[in-house]
Amino acid sequence: MQPPVQAAVPIDDHARWRYPADARLLAEIMASDAIRSRLGSPAYELARQTSRTGMLAGAVMVDPGVLPHLAEAVEGIRREFPQVQHVDCFVYNSGDMNAFITPGRTGTFIALASAAVNHLDAAELQYVLGHEFGHAAFGHLDVLAGALLADPALPPAEATRICAWQRAAEISADRMGLAVCGSLTAAARALFKVASGIVSNLVVASPESFAAQWQRLVDEVITEGDRGFHHISHPFPPLRMRAMLLFSEAMAAGGGERIDAANEAIDGMLAMMEPAGRGGTLADPLLRDLFFWGGLLVALADGYVSPSEWQRLATVTPPGIDLAATAAAAATDDAPCWERFTAAFRGRRKKFTGLELHRVMYGLHDVASADGTVSDGEMARLRQLAERLGVVPEACDHIAEQYQRERQRDGR
Ligand SMILES: [Zn+2]
Repeated sequence: MQPPVQAAVPIDDHARWRYPADARLLAEIMASDAIRSRLGSPAYELARQTSRTGMLAGAVMVDPGVLPHLAEAVEGIRREFPQVQHVDCFVYNSGDMNAFITPGRTGTFIALASAAVNHLDAAELQYVLGHEFGHAAFGHLDVLAGALLADPALPPAEATRICAWQRAAEISADRMGLAVCGSLTAAARALFKVASGIVSNLVVASPESFAAQWQRLVDEVITEGDRGFHHISHPFPPLRMRAMLLFSEAMAAGGGERIDAANEAIDGMLAMMEPAGRGGTLADPLLRDLFFWGGLLVALADGYVSPSEWQRLATVTPPGIDLAATAAAAATDDAPCWERFTAAFRGRRKKFTGLELHRVMYGLHDVASADGTVSDGEMARLRQLAERLGVVPEACDHIAEQYQRERQRDGR
């Protein structure tokens, strides 16, 4: 028997199960003129109507007379999602353990690959079906991402935004899969089987060890300094597993603020798949350690960390580091901060680009300016940090001027 997910939030309270970034990004997409104008275009309508038709042409419909156990499972889940109307379920012949949901002319189609039906047990199938119903319940079917992305004239920034939303939408759908199957271990098994194609019943796939693969991926990504993931529509499976694990732990701990904290951690994980340079000044996860240790040194140049500097540092504090304790220790001896800063710089196998170094120095100026002014002590510290990165003092001063100009222009 699998331990049930402790539901601090009732299963039918879909809005609270939803991953907030999914709703936010979807709203942004719907507000974009470039995307809105395409959603009503004849080409989009055609793509929408013909999407999946080829696959469904050879499929069999799931009805109680043909596949009674499956029809019963689908009907049971459908009752949890009263807003999803007229669901027809199909099985198509494929060795890939896939499933998808798509709007049809008369209702909603759920399609399951035969391999999924053959190889997933009842709880695993519930997870997969719950995930697909989640897509429908959260309004994900309102935007046919594939049809939009197929348009070569779509501006790249919009394409990036759509892909970021798709990844966030997967996190929401996974949560509904988890809600429906009620078991984190069944969800882990299903995700593992679908991702790996391994169907043996000997699959153990402990949620914790599966999720731990995410950290190894991160280490690889960071040390290689390489990212080309922003066009990938699905988050890496270990990221999805870790996101489910964090969410179910937060649920078990009573929900509320714990869920907010889990969502924030997941935001950071998904940010790893974003192209460099998006988001706030200090948001780049690949440069986070440089921002943190360098920022702490800049803040301490005047002897103490001001509240606004503190706020900025809190957003880039590496996992396992206690900001208060670290800042207190650094106030008497800052040598360890220098060591960590240098280690973060030298630790990467791939050389930093000029653009990245510029971003680091710009971010450190942002910390120095947090309290409104850059003191002489802070400016001297910025030059020292620049030197450590191989950035000449003139360039450091130039970045300082640029920062001040932009700050005045933005009225910050
Ligand atoms: Zn999905």
